[in-house]
Amino acid sequence: MDDSSDTHSTLWSRLSRLFCRDNEEKLEQAILDASADGEVEPEEKSMLLGILRFNDLFVHDTMTPRTDMDCIPVESTLDDVARLIVKSGHSRIPVFRDTRDNIVGIVHAKDILPCFLDGHQPLTLAQIMREPFFVPDTKSTRTLLQEFRTRKQHIAIALDEYGGTSGLITIEDVIEEIVGDIEDEHDTPREEDIRASENGSYILTGRANLEDLTELGLSLENDEVDTIGGYLCMYAGHVPTKGENFLLDGWKLTILNADQKLIHSILLEPSTSGEKPKPDEN
Ligand code: ADP
Repeated sequence: MDDSSDTHSTLWSRLSRLFCRDNEEKLEQAILDASADGEVEPEEKSMLLGILRFNDLFVHDTMTPRTDMDCIPVESTLDDVARLIVKSGHSRIPVFRDTRDNIVGIVHAKDILPCFLDGHQPLTLAQIMREPFFVPDTKSTRTLLQEFRTRKQHIAIALDEYGGTSGLITIEDVIEEIVGDIEDEHDTPREEDIRASENGSYILTGRANLEDLTELGLSLENDEVDTIGGYLCMYAGHVPTKGENFLLDGWKLTILNADQKLIHSILLEPSTSGEKPKPDEN
């Protein structure tokens, strides 16, 4: 047996002892200890932790939100669809009637390709789109993964509690929770939500997850919102504008870029002691 199989068997015997005890926290600690002891590689550690944390994830944690969905109205021509597929790089496009809250189908790139071949009978978007698969955004991603497999579906439309569209989720979003980002040939690399900057500061996007920020020592966990942008809007009672700053949990957060609806980026710096938030800004 070589060294690597030795270390793996040590880890697996630790894990299996803990599995018998059915204790997730201990299991997580065993993975972290094994990583600190060099028994598992960093990628293995994040995959094992991903599997463990997978149990606590819901569709709304993982989906692409409604505002970022590339969708098309049902009256569009197939040329319009082809143009959107090329522009967005996505191979499945939700189709709506009147508003994005009324998704009536999904059009697949591979279903429109034959329509552009010579001699193919002209078809409308309504004729080639497929039935959408709707799921509540509160569904566990673990259950959804099973449903994707049994239904042979790769995309679902997530609904909010009022039946409106909350977002979309694909099998890739679910699998990425375990294996990390999968960039395909057409993906434009997405900006990292948390980027280390100078002197212990960070640049955050408004989407940076509150749970991930606790790992930096900024604890703002909240039942109402998941992202730092959402938290600051709730805290301020309005969408903060460029230059506004907040002192929270020993950190200074300055809005670098925002529009009327969204915070795009934030500078997170360790707060210098004694500094107070500007009264008109918090
Ligand atoms: P594709 O290769 O067609 O983009 P994937 O399943 O690989 O589809 O998904 C890659 C990412 O793109 C996922 O985060 C998914 O939520 C997102 N995505 C897929 N289709 C759309 C769409 N029509 N609009 C916006 N985002 C989408």
